[in-house]
Amino acid sequence: MRRLIEGKIITGNQSKIKDINKQLLLVMIRQYQPISRVELSEKSGLNKSTVSKLIRELINEGYVRENGRGESIGGRKPVLLDINPYAIKTIAVGISVNTTTVVLADANSHIEKESSFDTISDPKDEFYKIAEISNEFYKEGKNISEIVFSIPGIVDVKNKVIKFAPNLHWKNIRVDEIFRERLEFTDIPISIDNEANFSVLAESWMGNIVKNEENIVYILINEGIGTGLIINNRLFRGYNYSAGEFGHMIINEGGRKCQCGNFGCWERYGSIKVAVDSYNLESPYHLRGKNNEEMFDSFVDNCNKGDKLAIKVAEDIAKELGVGIANIVNGLDPELVIIGGRMVKLWDHIKDTLIRTVEEHAIFGSTVNLRIEPTSFKAGTSSIVGAAVYGVRKLYSGYHISI
Ligand SMILES: [Zn+2]
Repeated sequence: MRRLIEGKIITGNQSKIKDINKQLLLVMIRQYQPISRVELSEKSGLNKSTVSKLIRELINEGYVRENGRGESIGGRKPVLLDINPYAIKTIAVGISVNTTTVVLADANSHIEKESSFDTISDPKDEFYKIAEISNEFYKEGKNISEIVFSIPGIVDVKNKVIKFAPNLHWKNIRVDEIFRERLEFTDIPISIDNEANFSVLAESWMGNIVKNEENIVYILINEGIGTGLIINNRLFRGYNYSAGEFGHMIINEGGRKCQCGNFGCWERYGSIKVAVDSYNLESPYHLRGKNNEEMFDSFVDNCNKGDKLAIKVAEDIAKELGVGIANIVNGLDPELVIIGGRMVKLWDHIKDTLIRTVEEHAIFGSTVNLRIEPTSFKAGTSSIVGAAVYGVRKLYSGYHISI
Protein backbone atom coordinates (compact mmCIF):
# COMPACT_ATOMS: atom_id res chain seq x y z
CA MET A 1 0.00 0.00 0.00
CA ARG A 2 1.18 3.48 -0.85
CA ARG A 3 2.83 5.36 1.96
CA LEU A 4 2.04 8.92 2.81
CA ILE A 5 4.52 11.70 3.01
CA GLU A 6 4.47 11.98 6.75
CA GLY A 7 4.84 15.17 8.71
CA LYS A 8 4.29 17.34 5.63
CA ILE A 9 4.20 21.07 6.35
CA ILE A 10 1.15 22.76 4.90
CA THR A 11 0.50 26.50 4.80
CA GLY A 12 -2.76 28.37 4.19
CA ASN A 13 -5.50 30.03 6.20
CA GLN A 14 -6.61 28.48 9.49
CA SER A 15 -9.84 26.81 8.37
CA LYS A 16 -8.17 25.42 5.27
CA ILE A 17 -5.35 23.99 7.39
CA LYS A 18 -7.92 22.43 9.70
CA ASP A 19 -9.76 20.78 6.79
CA ILE A 20 -6.51 19.50 5.34
CA ASN A 21 -5.39 18.11 8.69
CA LYS A 22 -8.74 16.38 9.18
CA GLN A 23 -8.39 14.77 5.77
CA LEU A 24 -4.84 13.79 6.59
CA LEU A 25 -6.02 12.08 9.78
CA LEU A 26 -8.81 10.30 7.90
CA VAL A 27 -6.38 8.98 5.32
CA MET A 28 -4.00 7.82 8.04
CA ILE A 29 -6.77 6.12 9.99
CA ARG A 30 -7.89 4.36 6.84
CA GLN A 31 -4.36 3.22 6.15
CA TYR A 32 -3.27 2.16 9.63
CA GLN A 33 -6.58 1.34 11.35
CA PRO A 34 -7.04 0.50 14.17
CA ILE A 35 -4.75 3.26 15.42
CA SER A 36 -4.49 5.33 18.60
CA ARG A 37 -4.42 9.13 18.90
CA VAL A 38 -0.80 8.98 20.08
CA GLU A 39 0.29 7.01 17.02
CA LEU A 40 -1.63 9.43 14.80
CA SER A 41 0.19 12.32 16.41
CA GLU A 42 3.56 10.63 15.83
CA LYS A 43 2.83 9.72 12.22
CA SER A 44 1.21 13.00 11.19
CA GLY A 45 3.55 15.37 12.99
CA LEU A 46 0.49 17.12 14.48
CA ASN A 47 0.65 17.72 18.23
CA LYS A 48 -1.48 15.58 20.55
CA SER A 49 -4.00 18.25 21.49
CA THR A 50 -4.66 19.12 17.81
CA VAL A 51 -5.15 15.42 17.03
CA SER A 52 -7.57 15.03 19.96
CA LYS A 53 -9.59 18.07 18.92
CA LEU A 54 -9.85 17.06 15.27
CA ILE A 55 -10.66 13.44 16.14
CA ARG A 56 -13.48 14.64 18.39
CA GLU A 57 -14.92 16.55 15.42
CA LEU A 58 -14.52 13.55 13.10
CA ILE A 59 -16.29 11.32 15.63
CA ASN A 60 -19.13 13.84 16.01
CA GLU A 61 -19.45 14.06 12.23
CA GLY A 62 -19.76 10.27 12.09
CA TYR A 63 -16.64 9.53 10.03
CA VAL A 64 -14.49 7.99 12.75
CA ARG A 65 -15.35 5.75 15.68
CA GLU A 66 -13.66 4.45 18.80
CA ASN A 67 -13.37 0.71 18.54
CA GLY A 68 -11.60 -1.19 21.31
CA ARG A 69 -8.29 -0.70 23.08
CA GLY A 70 -4.72 -1.45 22.04
CA GLU A 71 -1.72 -2.74 23.98
CA SER A 72 -0.44 -0.58 26.80
CA ILE A 73 3.05 0.86 26.41
CA GLY A 74 3.13 1.88 30.04
CA GLY A 75 0.00 3.39 31.53
CA ARG A 76 -3.55 2.96 30.31
CA LYS A 77 -4.40 0.96 27.22
CA PRO A 78 -4.96 3.46 24.38
CA VAL A 79 -8.36 3.76 22.70
CA LEU A 80 -8.17 2.67 19.08
CA LEU A 81 -9.83 4.49 16.21
CA ASP A 82 -11.10 3.28 12.89
CA ILE A 83 -13.17 4.59 9.99
CA ASN A 84 -16.88 4.30 10.72
CA PRO A 85 -17.91 1.85 7.97
CA TYR A 86 -21.44 3.28 7.96
CA ALA A 87 -20.28 6.87 7.37
CA ILE A 88 -20.78 6.70 3.64
CA LYS A 89 -21.76 3.99 1.18
CA THR A 90 -21.33 3.40 -2.51
CA ILE A 91 -23.07 1.29 -5.09
CA ALA A 92 -20.37 -0.02 -7.41
CA VAL A 93 -21.26 -1.68 -10.71
CA GLY A 94 -18.83 -3.85 -12.65
CA ILE A 95 -19.90 -4.63 -16.20
CA SER A 96 -17.95 -7.32 -17.98
CA VAL A 97 -18.79 -8.91 -21.30
CA ASN A 98 -20.36 -11.93 -19.61
CA THR A 99 -21.38 -10.84 -16.12
CA THR A 100 -22.62 -7.70 -14.41
CA THR A 101 -22.02 -7.34 -10.68
CA VAL A 102 -23.69 -4.74 -8.47
CA VAL A 103 -22.36 -4.27 -4.93
CA LEU A 104 -23.14 -2.14 -1.94
CA ALA A 105 -19.83 -1.15 -0.31
CA ASP A 106 -19.09 0.62 2.97
CA ALA A 107 -16.69 3.49 3.74
CA ASN A 108 -13.78 1.04 3.83
CA SER A 109 -14.84 -0.26 0.41
CA HIS A 110 -15.78 -3.60 1.91
CA ILE A 111 -18.64 -5.32 0.15
CA GLU A 112 -21.86 -5.65 2.17
CA LYS A 113 -24.22 -6.91 -0.51
CA GLU A 114 -23.74 -8.30 -3.96
CA SER A 115 -25.97 -9.21 -6.88
CA SER A 116 -24.89 -10.58 -10.27
CA PHE A 117 -26.58 -11.36 -13.56
CA ASP A 118 -25.59 -12.26 -17.13
CA THR A 119 -24.78 -9.03 -18.94
CA ILE A 120 -27.64 -8.07 -21.26
CA SER A 121 -26.49 -7.20 -24.77
CA ASP A 122 -29.08 -4.43 -25.19
CA PRO A 123 -27.63 -1.49 -23.22
CA LYS A 124 -31.04 -0.06 -22.32
CA ASP A 125 -32.20 -3.31 -20.74
CA GLU A 126 -28.81 -3.68 -19.06
CA PHE A 127 -28.95 -0.28 -17.36
CA TYR A 128 -32.65 -0.69 -16.47
CA LYS A 129 -31.79 -3.93 -14.70
CA ILE A 130 -28.91 -2.26 -12.82
CA ALA A 131 -31.29 0.56 -11.80
CA GLU A 132 -33.73 -2.03 -10.41
CA ILE A 133 -31.01 -3.59 -8.23
CA SER A 134 -29.73 -0.14 -7.18
CA ASN A 135 -33.23 0.82 -6.06
CA GLU A 136 -33.33 -2.28 -3.85
CA PHE A 137 -29.91 -1.54 -2.37
CA TYR A 138 -30.81 2.06 -1.76
CA LYS A 139 -33.86 1.13 0.25
CA GLU A 140 -31.66 -0.93 2.57
CA GLY A 141 -28.41 1.01 2.48
CA LYS A 142 -29.33 4.71 2.62
CA ASN A 143 -26.41 7.10 3.11
CA ILE A 144 -25.30 6.30 -0.43
CA SER A 145 -22.92 8.92 -1.76
CA GLU A 146 -22.60 7.76 -5.32
CA ILE A 147 -23.23 5.05 -7.90
CA VAL A 148 -20.04 4.18 -9.79
CA PHE A 149 -19.86 2.19 -13.04
CA SER A 150 -16.82 0.25 -14.23
CA ILE A 151 -16.91 -0.26 -18.00
CA PRO A 152 -14.83 -2.45 -20.35
CA GLY A 153 -14.35 0.26 -22.97
CA ILE A 154 -13.60 3.90 -23.69
CA VAL A 155 -15.57 6.19 -21.43
CA ASP A 156 -16.19 9.95 -21.61
CA VAL A 157 -15.88 10.46 -17.88
CA LYS A 158 -17.13 14.04 -17.93
CA ASN A 159 -20.31 13.47 -19.94
CA LYS A 160 -20.90 9.95 -18.57
CA VAL A 161 -21.02 8.35 -21.99
CA ILE A 162 -19.62 4.98 -23.08
CA LYS A 163 -17.95 6.02 -26.30
CA PHE A 164 -16.96 2.56 -27.46
CA ALA A 165 -16.99 -0.85 -25.80
CA PRO A 166 -15.92 -3.13 -28.68
CA ASN A 167 -16.48 -6.47 -26.96
CA LEU A 168 -20.03 -5.44 -26.03
CA HIS A 169 -20.67 -3.80 -29.42
CA TRP A 170 -21.79 -0.62 -27.63
CA LYS A 171 -21.18 2.84 -29.07
CA ASN A 172 -22.14 6.24 -27.65
CA ILE A 173 -24.28 4.97 -24.77
CA ARG A 174 -25.54 7.82 -22.60
CA VAL A 175 -25.37 5.98 -19.28
CA ASP A 176 -26.56 8.82 -17.05
CA GLU A 177 -29.67 9.44 -19.17
CA ILE A 178 -30.69 5.81 -19.61
CA PHE A 179 -29.98 4.77 -16.03
CA ARG A 180 -31.93 7.65 -14.51
CA GLU A 181 -35.06 6.68 -16.49
CA ARG A 182 -35.46 3.85 -13.98
CA LEU A 183 -33.56 5.07 -10.92
CA GLU A 184 -36.00 6.03 -8.20
CA PHE A 185 -33.55 8.13 -6.21
CA THR A 186 -32.64 10.86 -8.62
CA ASP A 187 -30.44 13.00 -6.41
CA ILE A 188 -27.59 10.46 -6.24
CA PRO A 189 -24.61 11.40 -8.41
CA ILE A 190 -23.20 8.80 -10.76
CA SER A 191 -19.67 8.32 -12.08
CA ILE A 192 -18.35 6.11 -14.82
CA ASP A 193 -14.87 5.11 -15.89
CA ASN A 194 -12.90 2.42 -17.63
CA GLU A 195 -12.40 -0.85 -15.71
CA ALA A 196 -8.61 -0.80 -16.02
CA ASN A 197 -8.50 2.71 -14.54
CA PHE A 198 -10.47 1.49 -11.54
CA SER A 199 -8.19 -1.54 -11.25
CA VAL A 200 -5.04 0.52 -10.96
CA LEU A 201 -6.79 2.76 -8.46
CA ALA A 202 -7.84 -0.25 -6.36
CA GLU A 203 -4.33 -1.63 -6.38
CA SER A 204 -2.91 1.71 -5.38
CA TRP A 205 -5.37 2.27 -2.52
CA MET A 206 -6.22 -1.17 -1.23
CA GLY A 207 -3.68 -3.62 -2.65
CA ASN A 208 -0.36 -4.72 -1.23
CA ILE A 209 1.85 -4.53 -4.31
CA VAL A 210 2.18 -0.79 -4.85
CA LYS A 211 4.75 0.75 -2.53
CA ASN A 212 6.10 4.11 -3.59
CA GLU A 213 5.94 3.67 -7.34
CA GLU A 214 4.69 6.67 -9.31
CA ASN A 215 4.65 5.03 -12.75
CA ILE A 216 2.42 1.98 -12.89
CA VAL A 217 0.81 0.02 -15.71
CA TYR A 218 -2.07 -2.27 -14.78
CA ILE A 219 -2.84 -4.76 -17.54
CA LEU A 220 -6.37 -6.04 -17.22
CA ILE A 221 -6.81 -9.18 -19.29
CA ASN A 222 -10.32 -10.54 -19.71
CA GLU A 223 -12.21 -10.94 -23.01
CA GLY A 224 -10.09 -8.04 -24.20
CA ILE A 225 -7.03 -6.27 -22.82
CA GLY A 226 -7.22 -2.84 -21.20
CA THR A 227 -4.57 -0.96 -19.31
CA GLY A 228 -4.81 1.51 -16.45
CA LEU A 229 -1.95 3.99 -16.34
CA ILE A 230 -0.57 5.97 -13.46
CA ILE A 231 2.05 8.34 -14.78
CA ASN A 232 3.95 10.60 -12.40
CA ASN A 233 1.49 9.59 -9.68
CA ARG A 234 -1.62 10.60 -11.63
CA LEU A 235 -4.20 8.52 -13.40
CA PHE A 236 -3.64 9.15 -17.10
CA ARG A 237 -6.78 9.07 -19.26
CA GLY A 238 -5.55 10.91 -22.35
CA TYR A 239 -7.20 13.72 -24.32
CA ASN A 240 -10.10 11.60 -25.65
CA TYR A 241 -10.19 9.23 -22.66
CA SER A 242 -8.73 6.46 -24.81
CA ALA A 243 -5.26 6.31 -23.26
CA GLY A 244 -4.28 2.80 -22.32
CA GLU A 245 -6.04 1.08 -25.23
CA PHE A 246 -2.94 -1.01 -25.78
CA GLY A 247 -5.21 -4.00 -26.36
CA HIS A 248 -5.70 -2.51 -29.82
CA MET A 249 -2.08 -1.90 -30.74
CA ILE A 250 -1.33 -3.80 -33.91
CA ILE A 251 1.18 -6.57 -33.30
CA ASN A 252 0.43 -8.44 -36.54
CA GLU A 253 -0.64 -6.32 -39.48
CA GLY A 254 -3.44 -8.02 -41.43
CA GLY A 255 -3.74 -10.63 -38.66
CA ARG A 256 -6.79 -11.80 -36.73
CA LYS A 257 -9.93 -9.68 -36.97
CA CYS A 258 -10.72 -7.68 -33.84
CA GLN A 259 -14.06 -6.45 -32.47
CA CYS A 260 -12.77 -2.88 -32.88
CA GLY A 261 -12.89 -3.33 -36.66
CA ASN A 262 -9.13 -3.56 -37.11
CA PHE A 263 -6.90 -6.57 -37.73
CA GLY A 264 -3.99 -7.96 -35.73
CA CYS A 265 -4.71 -6.21 -32.40
CA TRP A 266 -2.80 -7.43 -29.33
CA GLU A 267 -5.94 -8.56 -27.50
CA ARG A 268 -6.67 -11.01 -30.31
CA TYR A 269 -3.51 -12.88 -29.28
CA GLY A 270 -3.54 -12.72 -25.50
CA SER A 271 -7.04 -12.62 -23.99
CA ILE A 272 -9.02 -15.31 -22.17
CA LYS A 273 -11.15 -15.65 -25.32
CA VAL A 274 -8.02 -16.49 -27.29
CA ALA A 275 -7.13 -19.23 -24.78
CA VAL A 276 -10.63 -20.71 -25.07
CA ASP A 277 -10.84 -20.45 -28.87
CA SER A 278 -7.33 -21.82 -29.47
CA TYR A 279 -7.95 -24.79 -27.20
CA ASN A 280 -11.39 -25.58 -28.62
CA LEU A 281 -10.04 -25.39 -32.17
CA GLU A 282 -7.41 -28.07 -31.58
CA SER A 283 -8.92 -30.30 -28.94
CA PRO A 284 -11.51 -33.01 -29.64
CA TYR A 285 -13.05 -32.14 -26.25
CA HIS A 286 -14.59 -28.69 -25.99
CA LEU A 287 -14.18 -26.74 -22.77
CA ARG A 288 -17.21 -26.77 -20.49
CA GLY A 289 -19.08 -23.56 -19.64
CA LYS A 290 -21.85 -21.29 -20.86
CA ASN A 291 -19.55 -18.37 -21.71
CA ASN A 292 -15.88 -17.57 -22.19
CA GLU A 293 -15.33 -16.86 -18.48
CA GLU A 294 -16.58 -20.31 -17.48
CA MET A 295 -14.77 -22.03 -20.35
CA PHE A 296 -11.58 -20.23 -19.36
CA ASP A 297 -11.96 -21.66 -15.84
CA SER A 298 -12.13 -25.15 -17.40
CA PHE A 299 -9.07 -24.28 -19.45
CA VAL A 300 -7.18 -23.29 -16.27
CA ASP A 301 -8.26 -26.58 -14.66
CA ASN A 302 -6.85 -28.45 -17.64
CA CYS A 303 -3.54 -26.59 -17.31
CA ASN A 304 -3.42 -27.45 -13.60
CA LYS A 305 -4.06 -31.10 -14.43
CA GLY A 306 -1.11 -31.11 -16.85
CA ASP A 307 -3.08 -31.21 -20.13
CA LYS A 308 -0.32 -30.80 -22.73
CA LEU A 309 -2.44 -28.90 -25.26
CA ALA A 310 -3.69 -26.46 -22.60
CA ILE A 311 -0.12 -25.85 -21.41
CA LYS A 312 1.05 -25.23 -24.98
CA VAL A 313 -1.78 -22.71 -25.54
CA ALA A 314 -0.89 -20.99 -22.25
CA GLU A 315 2.76 -20.84 -23.32
CA ASP A 316 1.83 -19.20 -26.67
CA ILE A 317 -0.33 -16.65 -24.85
CA ALA A 318 2.48 -15.91 -22.39
CA LYS A 319 4.78 -15.07 -25.32
CA GLU A 320 2.21 -12.81 -27.00
CA LEU A 321 1.56 -11.03 -23.71
CA GLY A 322 5.30 -10.63 -23.17
CA VAL A 323 5.75 -9.03 -26.60
CA GLY A 324 2.94 -6.55 -25.96
CA ILE A 325 4.24 -5.70 -22.50
CA ALA A 326 7.72 -5.14 -23.93
CA ASN A 327 6.19 -2.59 -26.34
CA ILE A 328 4.45 -0.84 -23.45
CA VAL A 329 7.64 -0.84 -21.36
CA ASN A 330 9.52 0.66 -24.30
CA GLY A 331 6.92 3.39 -24.61
CA LEU A 332 6.26 4.28 -20.98
CA ASP A 333 9.23 3.06 -18.90
CA PRO A 334 7.09 2.11 -15.86
CA GLU A 335 8.44 0.98 -12.47
CA LEU A 336 5.72 -1.57 -11.93
CA VAL A 337 3.58 -3.68 -14.28
CA ILE A 338 0.62 -5.44 -12.68
CA ILE A 339 -1.16 -8.30 -14.43
CA GLY A 340 -4.85 -8.51 -13.54
CA GLY A 341 -8.21 -9.75 -14.79
CA ARG A 342 -9.21 -13.37 -15.12
CA MET A 343 -5.97 -14.19 -16.96
CA VAL A 344 -4.22 -14.00 -13.60
CA LYS A 345 -5.68 -17.43 -12.78
CA LEU A 346 -3.09 -18.71 -15.25
CA TRP A 347 -0.23 -16.78 -13.62
CA ASP A 348 1.77 -19.80 -12.42
CA HIS A 349 1.73 -21.23 -15.94
CA ILE A 350 2.58 -18.03 -17.81
CA LYS A 351 4.81 -15.97 -15.52
CA ASP A 352 8.24 -17.37 -16.48
CA THR A 353 7.74 -17.13 -20.22
CA LEU A 354 5.98 -13.77 -19.97
CA ILE A 355 8.73 -12.14 -17.89
CA ARG A 356 11.51 -13.69 -19.98
CA THR A 357 9.87 -12.45 -23.20
CA VAL A 358 9.59 -8.92 -21.81
CA GLU A 359 13.26 -8.99 -20.82
CA GLU A 360 14.27 -10.27 -24.26
CA HIS A 361 12.29 -7.69 -26.21
CA ALA A 362 12.26 -4.52 -24.13
CA ILE A 363 14.89 -1.98 -25.06
CA PHE A 364 18.25 -2.23 -23.29
CA GLY A 365 18.14 -0.78 -19.79
CA SER A 366 14.34 -0.39 -19.57
CA THR A 367 13.75 -3.47 -17.40
CA VAL A 368 16.30 -2.59 -14.71
CA ASN A 369 14.43 -2.81 -11.40
CA LEU A 370 11.13 -3.24 -13.29
CA ARG A 371 8.71 -5.37 -11.28
CA ILE A 372 6.07 -7.48 -13.05
CA GLU A 373 3.57 -8.82 -10.51
CA PRO A 374 0.12 -10.43 -10.44
CA THR A 375 -2.68 -8.35 -8.93
CA SER A 376 -3.24 -8.62 -5.19
CA PHE A 377 -6.99 -9.01 -5.76
CA LYS A 378 -8.92 -12.15 -6.57
CA ALA A 379 -9.06 -12.57 -10.35
CA GLY A 380 -11.61 -10.27 -11.93
CA THR A 381 -12.51 -8.23 -8.82
CA SER A 382 -10.05 -5.31 -8.89
CA SER A 383 -12.21 -3.00 -11.02
CA ILE A 384 -15.28 -3.24 -8.80
CA VAL A 385 -13.15 -2.65 -5.70
CA GLY A 386 -11.69 0.39 -7.48
CA ALA A 387 -15.18 1.67 -8.28
CA ALA A 388 -16.13 1.28 -4.61
CA VAL A 389 -12.97 3.14 -3.58
CA TYR A 390 -13.73 5.90 -6.05
CA GLY A 391 -17.19 6.30 -4.53
CA VAL A 392 -15.77 7.21 -1.11
CA ARG A 393 -12.98 9.46 -2.39
CA LYS A 394 -14.74 12.55 -1.02
CA LEU A 395 -13.73 11.41 2.45
CA TYR A 396 -10.07 11.36 1.62
CA SER A 397 -9.57 13.73 -1.30
CA GLY A 398 -6.21 15.26 -1.83
CA TYR A 399 -3.75 12.83 -0.32
CA HIS A 400 -3.68 9.92 -2.65
CA ILE A 401 -3.50 9.80 -6.38
CA SER A 402 -5.33 12.75 -7.89
CA ILE A 403 -8.27 11.49 -9.90
ZN1 LIG B 1 -8.79 -4.06 -31.88
